[in-house]
Amino acid sequence: MPGLPKKSEAEMSFLGDLEARLGKTPEIKEVSDKLTTAGFEPYLVGGCLRDLLLDKNPKDWDVTTNATPDKILGIFPDSVYENSFGTVGVKTGSKDPRLALIEITTFRLEGKYTDKRHPDEIKFAKTVEEDLSRRDFTINAMAYEVSTHKRRASGLVDPFGGRKDLKNKLLRAVGNAKERFQEDALRLMRALRLASQLGFDIEDETAAAISEKSGLLEFIAKERIAGEFNKLLMTDGAVEGIRRMEKLGLLKYVMPELREGIDCEQNKHHKYTVFEHNLKALQYAVDKNFPLELRLASLLHDIGKPRARQWRDDPRGTKINKGHNGDWTFYQHQYIGEKMALQILGRLKYPKETIENVALLIREHMFVYDPEIVTPRGVRRMLSRVGADNINDLILLREADRIGSGVPKAQPYRLRSLKAAIEKAKLEPIHPKMLAINGNDIMELLQISPGPKIGQILAILLDGVLDDPKLNDKEVLLVEIKKLGALADSELLKLADESKKKAVDVQKRIDEEIDKKYFV
Ligand code: ATP
Ligand code: MG
Repeated sequence: MPGLPKKSEAEMSFLGDLEARLGKTPEIKEVSDKLTTAGFEPYLVGGCLRDLLLDKNPKDWDVTTNATPDKILGIFPDSVYENSFGTVGVKTGSKDPRLALIEITTFRLEGKYTDKRHPDEIKFAKTVEEDLSRRDFTINAMAYEVSTHKRRASGLVDPFGGRKDLKNKLLRAVGNAKERFQEDALRLMRALRLASQLGFDIEDETAAAISEKSGLLEFIAKERIAGEFNKLLMTDGAVEGIRRMEKLGLLKYVMPELREGIDCEQNKHHKYTVFEHNLKALQYAVDKNFPLELRLASLLHDIGKPRARQWRDDPRGTKINKGHNGDWTFYQHQYIGEKMALQILGRLKYPKETIENVALLIREHMFVYDPEIVTPRGVRRMLSRVGADNINDLILLREADRIGSGVPKAQPYRLRSLKAAIEKAKLEPIHPKMLAINGNDIMELLQISPGPKIGQILAILLDGVLDDPKLNDKEVLLVEIKKLGALADSELLKLADESKKKAVDVQKRIDEEIDKKYFV
């Protein structure tokens, strides 16, 4: 075709892939075409274009255009003006929740940032290039013209070499890195989060700028830092991300307490320092795709160890640690850790429920689970302390702890027998309390005073209900009580004894079933 610049083969196939993917989202095409027909320039932009080029599913679809919000509202009657940044949400009626509302933002420039976070004023820009220049990283600063009619050239606008960085897996600030972090310090955390999320390296100059400007994180709202930190924790590269936070000086401003474990040697049972062990426990949580709270708990479970650490001389004089006679102890570290977690997560403004759950898991993570030592009573006490909802998480945390120590297996037999004991403890024991009536009902109905007869009748009723749960109905039971009340004392006693034996058998069978389920 004359007039159009020649495209290389790689370029053709790359754009072809992109076109094919966009072909599956007619909503984007429609919105784009409407804007183009009305004389405007719409582009797909930012994270969604980046993800499409990486062959990933975009989380949200962002369109940018030279149409001002009032013009956009005019073109799409079913739309909502969303915020002071000039974003209009266009409802498409799509069933895919990510495409149901497409955000269209007018090209903009950003003014001065005096608070390191919010630009003082929003100014609209004339060209897409200007809009791209205010974005954070080159891979986030590309735009693509979806509509083919009136398209300028290949469709891709990439003034900062985002495609090349995408190919080389490099995160690079747009323009002068130091200035960009100075403008908006949240970008420091975004950089690390994006690098972990994408498995990218941070380009040298950008990394040096992060290091130099790390202190600016103090000006950023804690919940925004936590938001990025959470995203980082949820990536497969979470552990590398935290190492990088330390290397570039950000950890000091986000979770300085974690740094206390760096170089903190443990005792003969541990081959890793506290910091390394916390990271290895987190790695297990990542490998097992644990949810956020469990990842936080894994990372923080031994946070109290450095403050709890005390030297204990060995009276027998054996040389254990570093040639000294004695070793390090960490008594009470779980309680110290619980307090520290409350402080850390509270400071970062995590939701109350997250803070409480994580702190509880840390406090309880030292539970004893040797089947020789743990009694059913002990298990019931643990269950009431931890709560039935958290007990599974606690066991998973313990697995992360154990694997994170470099021990090959998570003691499967012990954990299984604990799980069985917990399930038994959770089940309501077989007891007359399960009945829809009680002793008082019997005394009232039969006009008798307290005595052995009441217990006997309850035992017989319970037996019937165990056979057929439908009988556990007040009306039905009252009729039964009348009948039993008319029996001779000796007959009632005999029936009651048989019933009690059967109840014990049923309980035994249930316990056996649970043991079988857990192979213990
Ligand atoms: P994801 O949606 O995967 O979390 P994202 O890069 O899309 O990552 P968003 O917060 O959705 O992040 O932002 C969309 C786009 O807006 C980014 O790709 C980037 O171009 C721009 N952007 C977001 N935050 C900033 C910022 N703090 N400074 C400059 N540009 C930003
Ligand atoms: Mg996004």
